[in-house]
Amino acid sequence: MISKILIANRGEIALRVLRACKELGIATVAVHSTADADAMHVRLADESVCIGPPPSRDSYLNIHQIVAACEITGADAVHPGYGFLSENAKFAEILDAHGITFIGPTAEHIRIMGDKITAKKTAEELGIPVVPGSDGEVKPDNALEVARKIGFPVLIKATAGGGGRGMKVAKTEADLDEAVSTARSEALAAFGNDAVYMEKYLGKPRHIEVQVVGDGEGDAIHLGERDCSLQRRHQKVWEEANSPALNVEQRMKIGKICADAMKKLKYRGAGTIEFLYENGEFYFIEMNTRLQVEHPITEAITGIDLVHEQIRVASGAGLSVRQEDVVFSGHAIECRINAEDPRTFVPSPGTITHFHAPGGLGVRVDSGAYQGYRIPPYYDSLIGKLIVHGRTRVECMMRLRRVLDEFVIDGIKTTLPLFQDLIGNQDIANGDYDIHWLEDYLAKTDA
Ligand code: ADP
Repeated sequence: MISKILIANRGEIALRVLRACKELGIATVAVHSTADADAMHVRLADESVCIGPPPSRDSYLNIHQIVAACEITGADAVHPGYGFLSENAKFAEILDAHGITFIGPTAEHIRIMGDKITAKKTAEELGIPVVPGSDGEVKPDNALEVARKIGFPVLIKATAGGGGRGMKVAKTEADLDEAVSTARSEALAAFGNDAVYMEKYLGKPRHIEVQVVGDGEGDAIHLGERDCSLQRRHQKVWEEANSPALNVEQRMKIGKICADAMKKLKYRGAGTIEFLYENGEFYFIEMNTRLQVEHPITEAITGIDLVHEQIRVASGAGLSVRQEDVVFSGHAIECRINAEDPRTFVPSPGTITHFHAPGGLGVRVDSGAYQGYRIPPYYDSLIGKLIVHGRTRVECMMRLRRVLDEFVIDGIKTTLPLFQDLIGNQDIANGDYDIHWLEDYLAKTDA
């Protein structure tokens, strides 16, 4: 059994994990950089350890400091949250070597899914539908042959990719050479690895992802899907569960495919299988082997606490539910509240002079922010998440409109006004959008 968890993260997700630990009666250790000494997750934890100066590489990414913090405090497990070390196979191995439980999948599974070509191959072998594309890496000398086989337009993607970097579209044969060479040099610069592969470029897909949880022994369940099509620069902005584009049969069918795949893999922990969805077809793009930012909308419609499940399976206690006991109820929407200008998206760090979070039925605010909190400029700009649940999508949207009016964050700029715009939009009301919709909308309303 796990008795003390060190939370190797900061901000809202550190607080999120801490809350689950408290409910389970597990002691908590917060780690923080010198810039986060006043953070809420540090205040609420049973113990805290300063692990270094503000830059992430010296603190939240510093494996030695984190292992030392475990040893000093006697933490027997680490929850990595998302980002930082959450998908670092070496970190999982080092913890293992120190006899500390990593609350996540095996290092091997992190590695498989971290390399996009291997991930895609594995997904295909497990029976998950994938985007038609190259069989492994493409080189400048075989790119044309591969592209002709796939059919234009094609997308060149970095094997080591992440955050949409190292990705280039070639609409026609004339664009191909340049797309391949630019993708390779971007990939080299961003990831130190210039390997690229090729996929059919889908024109107007939605981004739909399936939440899975496995016990590592061959049992796994799915908790339905999330639609994260509303994105800006490949960053999700607004997510909903269920997807407005799927019916129950489609949901249960893709969910079962994913759960069966995770059973075969003997996957342990929470994971997300991401797809592009177009014309009724799902195309696997990647799997994230960690908790996602948008996991609360799944919790809202299933009532299942994903962090509880993560901790259970990490300690060998198995899943708390069987697939047939999972009940999907109503609709949930998450708005990511970033400390950014709502039009230019330029970060807006600073002091929050007034903070009032909304309340009422079906409302959840996950945030480490409070009145007087100084947002440090060193980390990503997500300062909170607003999650609203209703019995139907219409009720959820009505509630969201009310809740957005109640939310007050003064002293800095936030993306709240963007959501106030979106809630009044007809396409959003209809659930009629794809992965390009938000950028098109921002470009149109800018003019
Ligand atoms: P990353 O890990 O860099 O985020 P992904 O494979 O998850 O890369 O893709 C990121 C985004 O790029 C997707 O959400 C989608 O918007 C776009 N994308 C990826 N593959 C394709 C494709 N084959 N066709 C069209 N768009 C794609």
